[in-house]
Amino acid sequence: MPKIVVDEKRCKGCERCVEVCPQGVLAMSKKLNQKGYFYAVPTEQPKCLGCGLCAINCPDVAIEVFVHGTQYQFHSY
Ligand code: SF4
Ligand code: SF4
Repeated sequence: MPKIVVDEKRCKGCERCVEVCPQGVLAMSKKLNQKGYFYAVPTEQPKCLGCGLCAINCPDVAIEVFVHGTQYQFHSY
């Protein structure tokens, strides 16, 4: 099952990951991180497709996506 990990310390709370996720996996925390931002949290982890859109769109490289095997391939050069 795909899994994402959000590094809450890196997150600046822009909500881009929440907007781009086709599965509604992510939401914003009600707590502040060390920088004073509401950070993203995966609230619906089992729905994750492992598509990687959240990680690709995060300007702060705060999201890692772990997928066993190849489910989607975005770049084929
Ligand atoms: S990998 Fe895709 S489905 Fe999973 S949380 Fe990120 S955007 Fe959503
Ligand atoms: S896109 Fe990155 S910086 Fe923006 S809310 Fe999501 S994890 Fe935080």
